[in-house]
Amino acid sequence: MKFGGSSVADADAIKRVASIVERQQGRRAGAPSPVVVVSALGGVTDRLIEAARLAEEGHGVRATAVLHALVERHVAVASALTDGSAQAQLVSKVREEFDELIGLVHALAVLHEVSPRSLDAVLAAGEVVSSRIVAAALSHQNISAVWIDARTIVVTDVEHTAALPDMSATRERVSRLLAPVAERGEVAVLGGFIGATPNGVTTTLGRGGSDYSAAIVGACLNVDEIQIWTDVDGMLTADPRIVPQPAVVPRLAFAEAFELAYFGAKVLHPSTILPAVSNNIPVRIVNSRRPDNPGTLITADARQAAGGLTAIACKRDVTVIDITSTRMLMAHGFLRRVFEVFERFKTAVDVVTTSEVSVSVTVDDVRRLEAIVDNLKNFAEVGIEPEMAIVCIVGENLRSDSTLFSRSVTALDRIPLRLVSQAASRRNITFVLRDSDVTTAMGRLHEEFFRPANEHDGYHEATKHHEATMES
Ligand code: ADP
Ligand code: ASP
Ligand code: MG
Repeated sequence: MKFGGSSVADADAIKRVASIVERQQGRRAGAPSPVVVVSALGGVTDRLIEAARLAEEGHGVRATAVLHALVERHVAVASALTDGSAQAQLVSKVREEFDELIGLVHALAVLHEVSPRSLDAVLAAGEVVSSRIVAAALSHQNISAVWIDARTIVVTDVEHTAALPDMSATRERVSRLLAPVAERGEVAVLGGFIGATPNGVTTTLGRGGSDYSAAIVGACLNVDEIQIWTDVDGMLTADPRIVPQPAVVPRLAFAEAFELAYFGAKVLHPSTILPAVSNNIPVRIVNSRRPDNPGTLITADARQAAGGLTAIACKRDVTVIDITSTRMLMAHGFLRRVFEVFERFKTAVDVVTTSEVSVSVTVDDVRRLEAIVDNLKNFAEVGIEPEMAIVCIVGENLRSDSTLFSRSVTALDRIPLRLVSQAASRRNITFVLRDSDVTTAMGRLHEEFFRPANEHDGYHEATKHHEATMES
């Protein structure tokens, strides 16, 4: 059971977590207890990044001020959820963790330097303290719970800020340190997002990585279900921050979920699917504020109820790179040389299209863009277009129903499409367009594929409600 940042944002949210965990345990008397993975309290990772950035710029005082505010927030939440000696112990652990962090950030500010390795050490504090607080809160609610340091469980490589798990080493730790706890009927609580190298150096799995942690641990324990508890009712037909009132997708195939997550459905970290697939473990996305809703169930095969698409997603602020061979035609070896450059600079390419003499790709990580362009210019002309976006339509039905594609293109009428691509899986089609057109494009596609016939009134109700809220 993985609880995201908003599901553990404050004392009330953590109380809801306790009751969800208790119910889950009660439902399966005699079975091993659930294992709980938690994110940092909502917004904390962003604050820690801010503190690290201030330190890098040498603003030690401002960086530590950010941390002092975090100490107070955590101590308040910890105090509200516990009492007596458990409270004293918890609060002193929280303070100890932050004292260490403040010392570290102070040193980084003196050096004006934050390496990826140091950044991981700073960010990990969020999940270390949140997991301690949740473990204590469960105990306070008479749920037998133990805190486990995730860094003793999840063994990773040394790619700081984007570490990958060593599954066989992790499986060994899980069966030695975690499985016995669950089998004894105790709820193990650990922080998501964090791990450590075989030498014990703290690493993180990348933003949103707590979902991935839960899947890694779930696969190693070979659980019956990996539950992602969050702040929406499941995977929705579109990003609710962009499209008003998307619907819940009740069933999804692993492959569809992966495409949606990869192309921007933030509710699920894309890597979550990998351990789930390899052990064929269902993943359920559920709302911690509405625990009785069934959510979205993701399995190997999901029959689509009716025809149509499964969902749409978008990835904003990507950059298009056009690479044109300086020879007349695409000589053989051209593509190899192009992709070698991206490989050398460890930059993933999302969408690729080609014409006779040119290749266009999109990237979202532009940290090494300058070096990439310089290298490509050795054998090609290069054009760059920032502020673009990928809109991706996903559904197993795309294989069989060719009208879905034509309907989507018609819906996007008069929006300039920069690239269009359908890969061999034929379960998704990606459109690359201007970022400023994303809201219109998503709105039109959603309307075309997901708007029920009788929704018109519903839409107005929602608009009225929204306006009323804005006024108040
Ligand atoms: P958590 O803190 O629980 O990990 P996240 O903020 O990472 O939660 O992910 C949940 C958010 O993902 C939702 O609040 C929603 O705004 C966003 N989101 C984007 N696309 C989708 C989608 N297709 N379905 C559901 N949520 C989405
Ligand atoms: N706290 C981390 C983040 O915000 C990991 C997570 O929440 O999944 O990226
Ligand atoms: Mg998340």
